Amino acid sequence: MNEKQCCRCRRVKPVGQFGRDVKAKDLLKPACKDCHRVYDRRYCADPANAAVRRARSKQWLLDNRERKAAYTKAYVKANAKKIADRQRAYRAARRAAKASA
Ligand SMILES: [Zn+2]
Repeated sequence: MNEKQCCRCRRVKPVGQFGRDVKAKDLLKPACKDCHRVYDRRYCADPANAAVRRARSKQWLLDNRERKAAYTKAYVKANAKKIADRQRAYRAARRAAKASA
């Protein structure tokens, strides 16, 4: 199965356009990423919902410290050049701002 129909927009899209859902039979979310993004934005526009998301995210980090540390370590290793470039650009911008002030 390489394609799936979205439950919201009804378009048939490649499976890469669907998020993962470990509880679903096909392990994919029923709505495509584009539709889910719209839903998410509307959901989090309510400060109460956004607070619930923030609290859940914070709790996950507390419960999965090792997992997060391993992920960060792998990311830094895989993106060393990107991170160094970004830091160089940041420092140059700060230097320029300081010089003109
Ligand atoms: Zn859709």
